[in-house]
Amino acid sequence: MSDDPRVINSRLQRVYGISGDEYVQLFRAQHGRCFVCERAKAQHLAVDHNHRTGLVRGLLCAHCNRVVGYLNDDRRKFARFAEYLANPPAVAVLGKRYVPNSPGAAGYTGEEQ
Ligand SMILES: [Zn+2]
Repeated sequence: MSDDPRVINSRLQRVYGISGDEYVQLFRAQHGRCFVCERAKAQHLAVDHNHRTGLVRGLLCAHCNRVVGYLNDDRRKFARFAEYLANPPAVAVLGKRYVPNSPGAAGYTGEEQ
C-alpha cells in the first residue's frame, strides 16, 4: 500500500466513502487501537463495515476484521461464541478434561516434554 496521503485519501473515499481526516478522527477516537482486541497499531487499521448495508462501523486490526468476516457479521454467531467460551459444551458432557501437558492437566510441570 502506498504511503502517499493523497493515494490513501483517494482510496478511503472511493472504497469506504470517508475522507483521510475522518479516518484520523476514528483512529484518534479509538486511541489508535483496534476496537475489539485493543491492540495498538502504529499505522493502519482496517475500516470495518457491514457488508450487507455498507454501514461504516469502526476500525479493526486485520485479524479482528477477518473474524467479523468469518462469522458473516452475524451477531447471533458472536453471542454463541461468547456462550461457547463461558460454558464449553465438552465440560457438560465429559466433565473438566484437559489436554496433556497444559496448565490445567494433573502433573503439569510447566515444562515442554
Ligand atoms: Zn483486533
